[in-house]
Amino acid sequence: MQLSKRFFAALTLTALAGAVQAADEVVVYTARIDELIKPVFDAYTAKTGVPVKFITDKEAPLLARLKAEGENTPADMLITVDAGNLWQAEQEGVLKPLQSQVIEANIPPQYRSSTGAWTGLSLRARTIVYSPERVKAGELSSYEALAEKSWEGRLCLRSSKKVYNQSLTATLIETHGAAKTEELIKAWVSNLATDVFADDTALIQAIDAGQCDVGMVNTYYFGRLHKQQPDLKAKLFWPNQSDRGVHVNLSGAGVTQHAPHAEAAQKLLEWMTTEEAQGLFASLNQEFPANPKVPASAEVAAWGSFKADAIPLEVAGKRQAEATMLMDRAGWN
Ligand code: FE
Repeated sequence: MQLSKRFFAALTLTALAGAVQAADEVVVYTARIDELIKPVFDAYTAKTGVPVKFITDKEAPLLARLKAEGENTPADMLITVDAGNLWQAEQEGVLKPLQSQVIEANIPPQYRSSTGAWTGLSLRARTIVYSPERVKAGELSSYEALAEKSWEGRLCLRSSKKVYNQSLTATLIETHGAAKTEELIKAWVSNLATDVFADDTALIQAIDAGQCDVGMVNTYYFGRLHKQQPDLKAKLFWPNQSDRGVHVNLSGAGVTQHAPHAEAAQKLLEWMTTEEAQGLFASLNQEFPANPKVPASAEVAAWGSFKADAIPLEVAGKRQAEATMLMDRAGWN
């Protein structure tokens, strides 16, 4: 709060001073919280001398604000999570398509917008989590296999309102078609042990507590909980290793359409994809670097390596509306 007050005071002063704005500064709207982003900006400022001002808020208010501010926005960059959200921001016209050889060299194409309007910066797997007490790893194989009768009354799911599940469903539709995906999701719903959870952490805790045996979560939630609770009775499993791979999603960013410091913002974004920045950015939230040349942190690497689905994540946005309706029809609350 204090930070944003100072920030707006500074903006007001800048506005009063007329068009005189520091050529070299970057203003960021970020859905990634302070402690997960500030060390990255501090490192950039230390290296380049370019100050980075930022405010943090949830994805929806930041997007609404960018739209409302239009050409007058002070924001140069938007940082948020999930390709579905970034795609949405691009559709709303608040992101500027970029041509960047640096980003194209550092980030694989499936983790970027084909227009250059956004790029992934870190990856998280939405994978299977299970109880090692009640499930043998050998009983697990794929997301699809969780539709089998043997999981009846044993599966936990997070709410379908969360974009993470909408993106997972969008990629299932792209892979299997709508009819097969709807059948699959109906079967998941009929295997539920209990009502859907509001967040991934509660789901992992339910497995630990014996309320269910298996579920699907983002890896960093597992990492956080495991850090707090080293005796956690839950483990990660990498599904679909003999076919398309584990569903991954990303956190990412784009330069805004009306960025007052577009060039400086592009330089910051490019730097964030480099080997120098990727390890720090990813490790702050126990994520995987989106730049494949950069190794994951030791605590993330300890979960083991896996094959990730190479599907272009733009699909998460393109099929988001379809996925949401399908989940609703299939009874996923
Ligand atoms: Fe999250």
